Amino acid sequence: MLAAILKDFNRLELEDIPIPRPGDDEVLVKIVSCGFCATDYKAIKGIRRNVAFPFIAGHEPAGVVAGAGKGVRHFKEGDEVICQPSGYCGVCQYCREGNSHYCEHAYTTGGDGPEDVRPGAFAEYMVTGESCLFHKPANISFDAAALTEPLSGAWKGVIQKSEIKIGDDVVVIGTGGIGLLCLMVAKAAGAGRLIAIDASEYARRNAIKIGGATHAIDARSSNLRQQVYDIIPGGPDLVVEAAGPIEAVKLMVDLRRRGTRWNIFGITTHEKFELDGGLTHFLEGRMDASFGTTPLAMQSAIRLMERGLVNPELIVSHRYPLSKIHEAAAVMGQPERNKVIINP
Ligand SMILES: [Zn+2]
Ligand SMILES: [Zn+2]
Repeated sequence: MLAAILKDFNRLELEDIPIPRPGDDEVLVKIVSCGFCATDYKAIKGIRRNVAFPFIAGHEPAGVVAGAGKGVRHFKEGDEVICQPSGYCGVCQYCREGNSHYCEHAYTTGGDGPEDVRPGAFAEYMVTGESCLFHKPANISFDAAALTEPLSGAWKGVIQKSEIKIGDDVVVIGTGGIGLLCLMVAKAAGAGRLIAIDASEYARRNAIKIGGATHAIDARSSNLRQQVYDIIPGGPDLVVEAAGPIEAVKLMVDLRRRGTRWNIFGITTHEKFELDGGLTHFLEGRMDASFGTTPLAMQSAIRLMERGLVNPELIVSHRYPLSKIHEAAAVMGQPERNKVIINP
């Protein structure tokens, strides 16, 4: 099979390798679509350093079952499936609390986080555990299905962790791919005013056109707090940081009023910001955060798509066959792109 193997930073090579064999509880999936995540790009470019070579990236796949181990009960050859990128034991304390993304025995196929990193989906076939698979409803395209994991992250942050309520006025800082999904989920959940803040005009346009934002503000303009409060004088009920830079977190802190819930969603680097203890006390601000995904979040994202409440395919801006993965990687480095999909 054809696979894109990362041999070293900046050394991504297309190679013909044997099709992997599934173990007893594992399934072989023929990949139809796989999202190209910023995490993959950072591994290829050496922006994130926790990569063991050789590495096959790609952790947002959907495809068709091509083989199954003898212990597999719920999937058979020909089934259309969506893969959760993080495997979990199901038995540890965290798994039993419903937080399988904290699992002490976790593994990832093509992703980042656990120590046990297995080959991902920038290949024609991939093997994963049966418990990572979901049946793909027939009315969801494979490209949309490949976006289940990022959509599930948006669902987990906005719905599960920050508990958006109908009519909430929401600010989303950073409206690249994941920020757009947060906007779409917030809109589907009945947000009142939905304000997007981003430095890129392309991102702001998409926030309105695709994400359903009611307003978009240039992150580089001055007096951002005043601009937000001009639109919602009562201040935001919920602020979601889906940007990454520490400045976005600082802006979120600055946008709060009494009772505002805020979610640290985008930043993954270890940078500091300041909080006034007494002020935070009297604001009764509620800080949430969210990373990764869980079976509950995956299932909820699939339902949002199946019922037509959110169509993540709208955020796809580029599609490439696996043989053109280097072109896809180059596009990932450009500012004017949303989601890039690989179709092996
Ligand atoms: Zn991802
Ligand atoms: Zn576990």
